[in-house]
Amino acid sequence: MVFFRTVEFSLDLGGMEWLSGDRFYACPTCRSLVDAANWPGLIAYAELGPRGVRVVEGFRDHHAPGAVVFGPGTNPEADR
Ligand SMILES: [Zn+2]
Repeated sequence: MVFFRTVEFSLDLGGMEWLSGDRFYACPTCRSLVDAANWPGLIAYAELGPRGVRVVEGFRDHHAPGAVVFGPGTNPEADR
């Protein structure tokens, strides 16, 4: 597992404000799709609907390239 640092963004999802948080976690498959900037591939792999597509578009525009890797059994949130 990895995460990508993300500048927090919000979306209006049908009158509900959705906040992204500042990290997006990814499994190895999603990480490779992000590293390749293969957004259609990520949307297809994750079988996302319209709301999920908007989240991916927000992530695309707000994340810092370069996955942050953490090891099995470690807590990547421990330092926050
Ligand atoms: Zn994944």
